[in-house]
Amino acid sequence: MITEEDCIWAIQLWGGLAEGGRWIVPDLGVYERTGENQIVLVELYAALPTHKVTKESRTLFDDHEYLVELGKHIGWEVGLAIEKAWNQEGEVLNIPEDRYGEAAVCSKQCGTIVRIEPPEPGKIMIQITDRKCPTCGKQGFTKAWDNLHVVMDDRGARIKQILSEEE
Ligand SMILES: [Zn+2]
Repeated sequence: MITEEDCIWAIQLWGGLAEGGRWIVPDLGVYERTGENQIVLVELYAALPTHKVTKESRTLFDDHEYLVELGKHIGWEVGLAIEKAWNQEGEVLNIPEDRYGEAAVCSKQCGTIVRIEPPEPGKIMIQITDRKCPTCGKQGFTKAWDNLHVVMDDRGARIKQILSEEE
């Protein structure tokens, strides 16, 4: 629910930012004013290091979505241009921009696929350490994937698990 109070608050706050000026939202990130009626999220805090999607972990996403909705009410565009993302420990996520779109399959054939994607609010990023697969725990990835934060697709692994339980 977007109230009139919220709209007034946003008009005053965003309108008061100089172009290039930054607005820090605790627990969400940093927005920068990039135009007459435009702000974009340039830094994202706590991009959900666990892959559990709980009600609580959805609040980040809801917050950005809420600001997008609020913007629509008052004629502002609220966009994404994330340059830097942080996890809950305050570490910068390691996501090389020039490798966006690259994917790899766990070589131990558990069915897990990982992908390098730009960070977004609500997107769950998992770090690969010691070449270990986040699903099966075996060394399923090459050195080139070590320490990267990736998006994990474990649907294949879950299907395999269900099938093996049925056997
Ligand atoms: Zn695996």
